[in-house]
Amino acid sequence: MAKIYNFSAGPAVMPKKVLEKVQTELLSYKNSGMSVMEISHRSSLFSEIQENAEKNLRRLMDIPSEYDVLFLQGGATLQFTMAPLNFANNFKRIGFINTGHWSQRAIEEANLINGVEAIEIASGFSSGYTKLPEENRTSEDLDYVHITLNNTIEGTAYKEVPYMKDKFLVGDMSSNILGQRYNVSDFGMIYAGAQKNIGPAGLTVVIVRHDLVEKSPNLPAMLSYKKLVNKNSTLNTPPVFAIYCAGLVFEWLIAEGGIDVIEKKNREKAQLLYDFLDNSSLFSSPVSVKNRSITNIPFVTGNSSLDAKFIAMATENGFVGLKGHRLVGGMRASLYNAFPIEGVKELLKIMQKFELEYKGVY
Ligand SMILES: *Cc1c(COP(=O)(O)O)cnc(C)c1O
Repeated sequence: MAKIYNFSAGPAVMPKKVLEKVQTELLSYKNSGMSVMEISHRSSLFSEIQENAEKNLRRLMDIPSEYDVLFLQGGATLQFTMAPLNFANNFKRIGFINTGHWSQRAIEEANLINGVEAIEIASGFSSGYTKLPEENRTSEDLDYVHITLNNTIEGTAYKEVPYMKDKFLVGDMSSNILGQRYNVSDFGMIYAGAQKNIGPAGLTVVIVRHDLVEKSPNLPAMLSYKKLVNKNSTLNTPPVFAIYCAGLVFEWLIAEGGIDVIEKKNREKAQLLYDFLDNSSLFSSPVSVKNRSITNIPFVTGNSSLDAKFIAMATENGFVGLKGHRLVGGMRASLYNAFPIEGVKELLKIMQKFELEYKGVY
């Protein structure tokens, strides 16, 4: 099998050690004679998997005890609806920091809920979302403020979380959860689809402060944090296999040294690419230096046919998933936790080669 470097934004690269472990355990989990996919979600084999996954996630992120951890389905996208249903019940107004596509999707979904209004309290629109807004307008009559920590498509990220006074933050951490350190207690709730930095698709991790859960209204069961918390995420059949894989990724990350160690590695990987982009006579980063994501890094040549040529050449050589999102074009390198630094070094080599061949040609 030819060597592949997978730069995909999601579903994305997983740690090889985890995949190997899945492979060895696939046919008979813990000598049960059954695959994890075949065991009951009410069995002790599975409850142990879930308990360990939660315990290890708590350890990795330093999740305080007053927070509940949920393993849900429906992706990050369902949280665009669940968070407003559960939390926007007093003023029925939610403040949104609009930092690009995923914030806008969250705004659209919130506005679809009867009586709920999404208020844009800040926007990166004027910079084409290449910068994060510097000022957030607060107002008294908001139930909470929604923020997208890492903008997977535009390539911006918050290093520090803005302080919103008495309004709690709901954070979409889909693409950089476990990739850099955030303080859980800066948020009322955090959510993340698993398929970027955690594991396979089909699982959504929700971390939510218990007092907010307690205050939420009576909702249909699958949309109610309270009911899901009361049933420990197993109100119906949970995504057993995805939770198992996520648990293995958490164990892998602990063995790697945890978030602070992986963040340092992630910063090194990103810096290699940014340094190259900032010194290249062909490639460049469109994103404002101080707001750059260390996870998703868009770059361009400035010429779309040259971009296409580069992507084709890269793909042929085993560098896959580099095509930028259709909304921004160009290229994008996603450097999640499981992406090796050698992959970045190899990418730079082919970029260098391409640059020598094509600079000044167009
Ligand atoms: C990918 C992504 C989403 C959508 O995730 P799904 O799990 O596919 O619903 C939402 N927000 C951000 C920041 C993302 O990167």
